[in-house]
Amino acid sequence: NQDEEKLTEYLDELEFLAFTAGATIQKRFTQKLTQPDPKTFIGSGKAIEIKEYVKENEIGTVIFDDELSPSQLKNLEREMEVKILDRTNLILDIFAQRAQTSYARTQVELAQYQYLLPRLTRMWTHLERQKGGIGMRGPGETEIETDRRIIRDRITLLKDKLKTIDRQMATQRNNRGKVVRAALVGYTNVGKSTLMNSISKSEVFAENKLFATLDTTVRKVVIGNLPFLLTDTVGFIRKLPTQLVESFKSTLDEVREADLLIHVVDISHESFEDHIESVNNILMEINAHQKPMIMVFNKIDDFSYEKKDEDDLTPSTRKNVSLDEWRKTWMAKSKYPTVFISALTKENFPEMKKMIYDEVMKIHISRFPYND
Ligand code: GDP
Repeated sequence: NQDEEKLTEYLDELEFLAFTAGATIQKRFTQKLTQPDPKTFIGSGKAIEIKEYVKENEIGTVIFDDELSPSQLKNLEREMEVKILDRTNLILDIFAQRAQTSYARTQVELAQYQYLLPRLTRMWTHLERQKGGIGMRGPGETEIETDRRIIRDRITLLKDKLKTIDRQMATQRNNRGKVVRAALVGYTNVGKSTLMNSISKSEVFAENKLFATLDTTVRKVVIGNLPFLLTDTVGFIRKLPTQLVESFKSTLDEVREADLLIHVVDISHESFEDHIESVNNILMEINAHQKPMIMVFNKIDDFSYEKKDEDDLTPSTRKNVSLDEWRKTWMAKSKYPTVFISALTKENFPEMKKMIYDEVMKIHISRFPYND
């Protein structure tokens, strides 16, 4: 059943997010509803079922794979007597843990306050002894109880601070002159940092967790005597909280102002097609979808599926697919130059480098048409 497969994938991803945030998942609950209950998101029977499970097994937190409205969050917390996290809060928490520079920290803090503001009336009385933990990093409980006005002031302040940094970063980008700029884009955990490291011989942090990269890294890369700038950007994700899209404006500006996008896809992931779509949607949102793009299908070294017959190359059936076979798949028929590689083993790197060289050269020539 396709719907159920999708659901499992979504919950796998949520579990990976929870793991990244430092939680272990005990049990999954699902419910089919034509639409979410406006008061409690899930039905009342399901809420009781979860409440009983939580009590029996001394569970600390219940996580929802959607953004809950402020009142849904409040009602659920009151009814189930347990801390509730929604998808947005979970992602914000991971970002808070991972933000390295003061710029990223400012961005995350702003997003957290924006999330918090409409939820300020939330009651924490029954949870008083459960301070700290996931969803509580960044603005703490004392702030939750303070006046909305203080938070609004803080939001204004943070926005001003970001505006100043945005201007500085824009100047920096301008100062990079006419050198061609390529940006790595892609879903989180597809191998962008790994690729950045192997192309530019730099040491960008790569880890099998979601959102290892929050800050953009820019490196000068030279392929065949042609220098260009390569940027590693924050990974995209399905249902990226809108507060984050907005507050990571400057990070996304790197993408918006790039001359060439290198769209990295983890082809070993069963939902890679969904990932491509999510990334394309975000590119559309930030109006960067018409840029020249190269599709890089990564992790070709990583398969463990059975293959039924020659023509069958659907994700669930491929195994040890050769480069020639990859080149015959629908993926290779996109309107963009497409290449299949492994960032880990560097398989097929020469073809990828040639492709990047050709695209960068095209842009370079269009910029300096009268040079030899
Ligand atoms: P990012 O979030 O897109 O920057 O992804 P990372 O570069 O941090 O990589 C995520 C995980 O995928 C890490 O555990 C990498 O070691 C792994 N990875 C990256 N490229 C490959 C590849 O070509 N093959 C395999 N098997 N794993 C890879």
